[in-house]
Amino acid sequence: MGNIRFDALKTAWSHIPEVCDSQSYGVIFAQNVFTREKMREYIGSNVLEQLFDIIDDEKPLTRDIADSVAIGMKKWAMEQGATHFTHWFQPLTGGTAEKHDTFFSLSPDGLPMEEFGGSELYQQEPDASSFPSGGLRNTFEARGYSAWDPTSPAFVIGDRLCIPTIFVAYTGEALDYKTPLLRSTAAIDKAATAVVNYFDRNVRHVRCNLGWEQEYFLIDEALFNARPDLVMTGRTLMGHSSSKNQQLDDHYFGIIPERVLQFMTELEIESLRLGIPVKTRHNEVAPNQFELAPSYEEVNLSSDHNQLLMSLMENIARKHHFRVLLHEKPFAGVNGSGKHCNWSLSTNTGVNLLSPGKNPYQNLQFVTFLVNVLMAVYRYNGLLKASIVSATNAHRLGANEAPPAIISVFLGKQLTEALEQIENASAERGIIINAKKEMKLGVGNIPQILLDNTDRNRTSPFAFTGNRFEFRAVGSSANCGAAMLALNAVVAEQLISFKKEVDGRIEKGEAKEKALFQVIKSYIRECAAVHFEGNGYSNEWRKEAEHRGLDCETSVPLIIDNYLKDDVVKMFETTKVLTKAELVSRCAVKWENYAIKIQIESRVLSDLVLNHVHSAAKKYQTMLLQNVLAVKQVFSEEEVKQLNEQDYTIIRQIEQCCGNIIEMVDKMKRLRVEAGAIQEPRERAVAYHDSIVPLMEKIREQADALEMIVDDEIWTLPKYREMLFIH
Ligand code: ADP
Ligand code: MG
Repeated sequence: MGNIRFDALKTAWSHIPEVCDSQSYGVIFAQNVFTREKMREYIGSNVLEQLFDIIDDEKPLTRDIADSVAIGMKKWAMEQGATHFTHWFQPLTGGTAEKHDTFFSLSPDGLPMEEFGGSELYQQEPDASSFPSGGLRNTFEARGYSAWDPTSPAFVIGDRLCIPTIFVAYTGEALDYKTPLLRSTAAIDKAATAVVNYFDRNVRHVRCNLGWEQEYFLIDEALFNARPDLVMTGRTLMGHSSSKNQQLDDHYFGIIPERVLQFMTELEIESLRLGIPVKTRHNEVAPNQFELAPSYEEVNLSSDHNQLLMSLMENIARKHHFRVLLHEKPFAGVNGSGKHCNWSLSTNTGVNLLSPGKNPYQNLQFVTFLVNVLMAVYRYNGLLKASIVSATNAHRLGANEAPPAIISVFLGKQLTEALEQIENASAERGIIINAKKEMKLGVGNIPQILLDNTDRNRTSPFAFTGNRFEFRAVGSSANCGAAMLALNAVVAEQLISFKKEVDGRIEKGEAKEKALFQVIKSYIRECAAVHFEGNGYSNEWRKEAEHRGLDCETSVPLIIDNYLKDDVVKMFETTKVLTKAELVSRCAVKWENYAIKIQIESRVLSDLVLNHVHSAAKKYQTMLLQNVLAVKQVFSEEEVKQLNEQDYTIIRQIEQCCGNIIEMVDKMKRLRVEAGAIQEPRERAVAYHDSIVPLMEKIREQADALEMIVDDEIWTLPKYREMLFIH
């Protein structure tokens, strides 16, 4: 009888990298995307103008246009070899959903006919009763609609045309991430444009940009398959840390192993074909951990691209006999994986509102947006944390090399000083407005700001990095939309209040610049609590943050409560991003999801420790006991006493650990039954968090202790040193 671990180890070494064709990257870019250039080729010019207006200016989409676009889109897709089409949407399960239909159907007289018109493009009704809706859609009213999002271009993967869509209930409530994300970009467009117009009347639109950095682990497929916990939960539920892991920092930016490079190259090629502008790849901090980042794009498109990339990664990894781990913390004790979301705002005139301008007037505009973002993060720090938590990200927050479960903002030395100067400056003395209505800011007000990227604080969950904010607390497996829609919404609402306040002052006769300046000044003072330049990983910070009144809750089910706080509900309603009913349903989905994930992990851990750990340990113990008996037959009583001292200790230790495991697994089962019986999703999630999670950690300790004792040859599960260092 073979040992599955050794079988896995044998094959893990044997893969020869496949050779990728590396055509010119420029030629293949967006090859499989229905881009504007292709639209020009396949769609009549009268419709084209209207379609571009819909995409660029949010003009309403009509059925006529959909009909015309559908004809061109289908022609193009079929030329690419597509035989099917699907609406491609992002339900609250995470991941993406597809339901394929062929372009053909049979006519009543049995002849094949093509079936893809405006109505198929425009709207579909996937039988979606098993997607989570958090009570928004009862099963008897199980209708969900997917509707075309023309702002994200259609693409072909394999034999199917994918049409990005939103996913909503019969009653219009959002059942996905994309719908509220689109609403949030509309909200920020409106609110930010109104504020930019203080400085530049020509600006008509403001858009949000997102550039994500996707971190992930790769692991050999044979080793992956030999670890039921990885297969079922995406993370190792046990495993003693390897003697060497990341202490030497020798992996970060190191040479990429050959087989991994082959995977990356193919991933890049396929990403580029789908229009994902991938740019950077490198090793990450932990062994077998890597990162990929694209150029930034408009947030809706960028978020779609991230979803697409995650599914490409899974497929391409398999071709290279790897499995990709998108879990935030697949291995305890080494770095977890995040998905830093670089976020900025830019105008239709091409100005990045978070880039410090060259002249003081632009500086005031920059400071206006910077300080409003600070205020928004300050006022809604609890919500922003809620937007990134999950059962999986919980292991990463606050752990090795990860942002803590407290949202604070890092600005860097220069900006910190600049804000201090503004706070202490007097508007009367400081601002001089000359006849040309140009604003000159006296020394001490808005200093010349020259920022560079060297002033970095890796411990901050939300950091300013020169011309954008980097939201680092986002988890590697998350849909970017969740965090981005929350951030957009809070900033939009903050800008609305800001404008109201400034306008109020102007109406009372205050000069515009002075009004802006005074409000900014008061904000800098008000939101000081969220600004933190120190080490976010330190224990002192936890205490300090609590003192400052920031949200320091660490329990995921309780963090989710933030979505339903009065001010948050009001904020989402003001910005029209999410209704109260939608928020309630989203929370229900989140709690449910949390409870299910913990339930599965707990079951898998029970199986593992009983079927693998306990049995291996007992086998080894029997060997030792047999040895003791054999020794007794050969040696004298006195000699035996000395000889077996150590063996006895190990035998007892195994007995102890195995006993503890049996007892705790039994207890955990009882607690699971109790938690599972709770009807209310929030209470159920709380029960899983409070009673099951701590017990799982204790069971793990026992299993990891046994791993150190038991004979390596008997141990059936691949070890950390194998999973993390074989590639
Ligand atoms: P680092 O790891 O040093 O932060 P990377 O090069 O890995 O940097 O990633 C930087 C990310 O920031 C990329 O996704 C890039 O597209 C994005 N980015 C750069 N400028 C902006 C911007 N103005 N707005 C949004 N994202 C940006
Ligand atoms: Mg990076």
